[in-house]
Amino acid sequence: MIPFNKPCVTGKESVAVQQAITSGKLSGNGAFGKNSVHWLEERLDCEKALLTPSCTAALEMTAILTNVGPGDEVIMPSYTFVSTANAFALRGASIRFVDVLPGTMNIDPEAIEKAITTRTKAIVVVHYAGVSCEMDSIMSLAEDYNLFVVEDAAQGLMSTYKGRALGTIGHFGTISFHETKNYQCGEGGALLINDKNACKRAEIIQEKGTNRSQFIRGEVDKYTWRDVGSSYLLSEMNAAFLSVQLDNAEGIYEKRMKAWTWYKTGLQQLETQRFITLPEIPNDCRHNAHMFYIKVQNLAERSKLMEYLKQNNIMAVSHYVPLHTSQAGLKYGVFVGEELYTTPESEKLIRLPLYYGIEKEEVNHVVNHIQKFYQQ
Ligand SMILES: *Cc1c(COP(=O)(O)O)cnc(C)c1O
Repeated sequence: MIPFNKPCVTGKESVAVQQAITSGKLSGNGAFGKNSVHWLEERLDCEKALLTPSCTAALEMTAILTNVGPGDEVIMPSYTFVSTANAFALRGASIRFVDVLPGTMNIDPEAIEKAITTRTKAIVVVHYAGVSCEMDSIMSLAEDYNLFVVEDAAQGLMSTYKGRALGTIGHFGTISFHETKNYQCGEGGALLINDKNACKRAEIIQEKGTNRSQFIRGEVDKYTWRDVGSSYLLSEMNAAFLSVQLDNAEGIYEKRMKAWTWYKTGLQQLETQRFITLPEIPNDCRHNAHMFYIKVQNLAERSKLMEYLKQNNIMAVSHYVPLHTSQAGLKYGVFVGEELYTTPESEKLIRLPLYYGIEKEEVNHVVNHIQKFYQQ
């Protein structure tokens, strides 16, 4: 059986976790946590990074940092994971879902502009499959209308847009270290803060609304409740696991990219014959091989192909059900503008098995079965 995903484990994680255990410091911001933060700040070039229990938690922090509340509107794609919207719905904001572009499944900058009202506070972009949104247009819109930009870069570690790391272009960026992502520690995430003025507040929000971080650094002699916040720290054992993955980021990247390229080469002919469509990687983007997806003609064909692959022990999966069609999406948000692509394109999309350590034979096996399916 070829599974859809296998969590990436390089083999050296258990040693680091054991070290964390014997260090006697198991809560957040221990030595491994600091190392990982340092890696993120240096490698990605951001003002400040904080490790969080998940990307979901980091998104919740951005919803607090952008001061959105009841009556405010936040614009985002409908084609995304629930956490992107949920974080802002939790603050009482109303979600304005807009369309994506079919080539990348990323938010359409023109649809954003049409959805802006006097109540708009923030734009949340999602870099789908680790391929960047059109950040120049989006940042210039944000400047024109004085809006915050949050980048949900959950899938985007090691990807860039015009040489800049994803998550470091908007005011805030969020990363996921969930086991389904390229770099993982079971559950984990990071908040990237690019706005200098927000760093101090972000630390307070992360420490349950207290200035405990300043206290630990010896900057104040006691810590007190300063703001709203929650427990948004990553445990040191997870940070230890993560630090090994970050130290091997290049090697993990290369292996995934190889597999991605095997798919791309192997399926090219079916695209030329117009049976399927392959993902578009715009020139400004370096991606991280987070995902390999294909698009077929329609929903019925997708069901048939997925079933055919399953019968051959290949686990290929669909992806997001557009949020504006979901029960909570209808309650907390509304789709704004014309929906040209979100639902129809999401119904054509199939993600193929791709993980650290997938063998060339396995990729070829998947490719051959897709070819066979279209020969029938
Ligand atoms: C995975 C993912 C999340 C959630 O990440 P967690 O770390 O599991 O909370 C949010 N947004 C997107 C786009 C994702 O792919």
